[in-house]
Amino acid sequence: MLCLLTAQVEVQLKMFLIVFIIHSPILIPIQNGENISVRNGGVVEPTEIHLGVRYDTRKNKISGMYEQIPVNDTFIYIPLLKTLEFIFRNNEVCNLIQEKRQSDTYRDLCDGQYYKNHPLYSIHSNALQIQIYYDDFETANPLGSQHGIHKLGCLYFVLRNLPAHINSSLMNIHLISLFHSEDGKKYGMDKILGPLVDDVKILEQEGMKVSFSEEPIFGTIAQFTSDNLGLNGILGYVESFSAKHYCRLCLTDKVLAQEVFSEDDPRVILRSRNLNEEHYKYLADNPNENSCYGIKRNSVLNTLTYFNVSENFVLDIMHDILEGVAQYEVKLLFEYMSCNLISCDSIPQRLYAFNYGYLDKNNRPTKVKLQQAGNSIGLTQRKSDIVSH
Ligand SMILES: [Zn+2]
Repeated sequence: MLCLLTAQVEVQLKMFLIVFIIHSPILIPIQNGENISVRNGGVVEPTEIHLGVRYDTRKNKISGMYEQIPVNDTFIYIPLLKTLEFIFRNNEVCNLIQEKRQSDTYRDLCDGQYYKNHPLYSIHSNALQIQIYYDDFETANPLGSQHGIHKLGCLYFVLRNLPAHINSSLMNIHLISLFHSEDGKKYGMDKILGPLVDDVKILEQEGMKVSFSEEPIFGTIAQFTSDNLGLNGILGYVESFSAKHYCRLCLTDKVLAQEVFSEDDPRVILRSRNLNEEHYKYLADNPNENSCYGIKRNSVLNTLTYFNVSENFVLDIMHDILEGVAQYEVKLLFEYMSCNLISCDSIPQRLYAFNYGYLDKNNRPTKVKLQQAGNSIGLTQRKSDIVSH
């Protein structure tokens, strides 16, 4: 399964603003003191959850001196079950959720073996498929001295039961949590995922009452999506891609990975619940070891009944392919062309003059660097994407 990931900060910021405006109780006040959202039928109130205490400096208004005072570290959680209730107040969504969209071609998660053999989805075909997306974004000037300090981490979800054209709209991507990235590192992602996991457990075991069904509707996390670094961190794998066992899907080490290109190769051992359990046990028995076969810790997500980190098959298409293998392949292709078909100098000219169409005409590649080592062709992300396509 491929999951499209967009890591562009601008897109995220827009998404964050829109979603936050929808969910936030801090809404545009109108004259009689009531806010627009309350008047229009309600709001899903975010809750502030305490993580710990840190020390900061504040100016004492009386003495005028700066003093050290304890400050609470908190993060924001928007209750998942309440957001779902809010979504199901829309009749159109209720109708769309009940439509069956399975087909024999691979178009969606529910066309694959994982979904068909899943203990919850194979029994309850209308069970909610919650896809979570995680990424960090920088709120300060990335070149400034405050870079990294105000970085925020965000969790969003979409309901995969809805058709793709509905989910591609920003208003159907819902905010779950907002936290300082530093707090994620300091207190661990499991603490930040805790309230979400508790809500998903209720959804798995008791389900929720909905207007369109007499039976309660169940659900679980279908897949957890993010970029490679984010996923490795959340799922409990090593966060270095030069590590020996860097892969989330198999135990192939980085040396063997240069020779093995197929999942059917007998040398490939895929990760599984049982294998992961053995590695967790090894780590528990040997507290001095940092990692075991690329696993650093057990994740709170493994406490769920119908989701396990070993069955999270999401790949990061942007870093793995568009900014990785595809650029390298394109470079090899140009190298072959310059040796056999056209001169090396005319390749950049022909690339520039190509008709990229109305939408991409401003992203025409200007300087393609084909002589440099490495897989980069010296273009910005969007420009290299259109060359790869
Ligand atoms: Zn692998």
